[in-house]
Amino acid sequence: MEAQGSGEPVGGLMRLEDKTQIVYKCGRCGAEFTAAELELMPTIKCLYCGYRILYKTRPPGSKLIKAV
Ligand SMILES: [Zn+2]
Repeated sequence: MEAQGSGEPVGGLMRLEDKTQIVYKCGRCGAEFTAAELELMPTIKCLYCGYRILYKTRPPGSKLIKAV
């Protein structure tokens, strides 16, 4: 319980960006949408056809770090 007056963001706020980075793909119609879009729904299902099986895919712009 340390009171800090610097106004620094507490850990967790930084994770907000991740939700737009995670991409899900519908197992039936193949539509893709982000985790942020999914959160708008009451349940996890395809925004287009309502199918409930979604695959998590890697975002196209993800960084690849090579280990030398
Ligand atoms: Zn679908």
